[in-house]
Amino acid sequence: MTDAGLRCIEVVELVSAYIDDELDPQTRRRVEEHLELCPPCRVYVEQVRETVLTLGELPAGALSDQAVSELEAAFRAFSRGRA
Ligand SMILES: [Zn+2]
Repeated sequence: MTDAGLRCIEVVELVSAYIDDELDPQTRRRVEEHLELCPPCRVYVEQVRETVLTLGELPAGALSDQAVSELEAAFRAFSRGRA
C-alpha cells in the first residue's frame, strides 16, 4: 500500500463527494494532486460540477463513460429545450 496517488477510477468514485466538499482533507488533497497531473480527470470533474450546478444534484449512479456521453446528449437537448 503506497500513497503514490489515486487512480482515475478512484477519482471518478470520489468526484461527487469532492464537489460537495464532503471529503476529509487528506483525501481531498489526493484528489487535487491527481487532478494536477491528469487533465482528463479535470475535464471530468468540471463536467460533473456543471451538471450538479445545473441540475442541483448528481444523477443517481456512477458516471461511467457511457453515462457521461448520455448526460452530455441529454444536456444539449435540455439546453435547446429551454431556449
Ligand atoms: Zn485521472
